[in-house]
Amino acid sequence: MVVNISGKDDRLSWSETADGRFTVASAYKFLTRDYTPRPDMASLFQRVWRVTAPERVRVFLWLVVNKAIMTNQTRFRRHFGHTEICQVCKSGVESTLHVLRDCPAMEGIWRRIVQQRKQHAFFAMSLLEWLFENLSEDTELVNGSWPTLFSVSVWWAWKWRCGNVFGETRLWRDRVKFVKDYAKEVRSAMLASVQAGVVIREDRMISWLPPLAGWMKLNTNGASHGNPGEATAGGVIRDGDGKWCGWFALNIGRCTAQMAELWGLYYGLCFAWDKGIRQLEVEVDSATVVGFVQAGICDTHPLSFLVQLCHGFLSKDWEVRVTHVYREANRLADGLANYAFSLALGLHYFDCVPPDVLTVLREDECGVSQVRRIRV
Ligand SMILES: [Zn+2]
Repeated sequence: MVVNISGKDDRLSWSETADGRFTVASAYKFLTRDYTPRPDMASLFQRVWRVTAPERVRVFLWLVVNKAIMTNQTRFRRHFGHTEICQVCKSGVESTLHVLRDCPAMEGIWRRIVQQRKQHAFFAMSLLEWLFENLSEDTELVNGSWPTLFSVSVWWAWKWRCGNVFGETRLWRDRVKFVKDYAKEVRSAMLASVQAGVVIREDRMISWLPPLAGWMKLNTNGASHGNPGEATAGGVIRDGDGKWCGWFALNIGRCTAQMAELWGLYYGLCFAWDKGIRQLEVEVDSATVVGFVQAGICDTHPLSFLVQLCHGFLSKDWEVRVTHVYREANRLADGLANYAFSLALGLHYFDCVPPDVLTVLREDECGVSQVRRIRV
């Protein structure tokens, strides 16, 4: 803690949940956590669910990743079948990779789809590597992106295999052309639906705005190198002409980004109160912090003591409005927080402008604005 704050006792807070409340589930997770390195399945699943392909294709890929495809190999292992050999080529074990890639019929198709220089690696990878690499490749093809063509080909490899096993007699003239056309169709359908539900964004000019007549404005911000990491906070009070009425900066040491933001707000409020200000507009660029202040926070949350300290100040005999602004309107506080990294640990109050932020101060005074792309 930067300075001693009276009236607040240390309290236990459970670090395994976001709100500090103990749950048996989180304790179980904590105790059974396994730190041995393993493949990054989370990012593989992310790729599976993000690929541009029909839902059934994605679900199928998910089953493949979970090794839940019923091949002869699996059937044999579970004593459902009498052989693990592929009944199409009769030349190898029917594993998932065999069905989807290595069985001669499918291999021939892949050799016509995959670029020559990539073929060696393509056929050498293990199942999960193969899926991971091909679902992430960002090569744009004429027929849509590679992950789309790859995943619909995988899906059709399975469909064709099932058709074969269950005696489907349909004749396929050119399977390569078929999957390429299919991928193209999927791609254009997806693009059309994206365009239909497109999110409209527009550029808005954002600038710092002076407070209402008779009011003062406090801008605060926190900064951290990592979360948690070395953290600072800073804030500045200005009048209706944008004139500087003092600033503070805080070099906190190691804490979370949200804690830094809240320390900034807390010291900003102390600072303004001490200066005798009784009508104050406060601007913070963290919507979460504004939410904490406006809606409150549960008692077990690790930051509840700080939110309560802020509430303590807000309930004094003055008018304070805390609002969220975009960071383009909070550049001076941001500059001060960054400047605080060069200061000694602890709190610093100053009356003159540090040279590092002079330009931003002048720009705010003149109403210079910055472009921000906003979702409308
Ligand atoms: Zn085969």
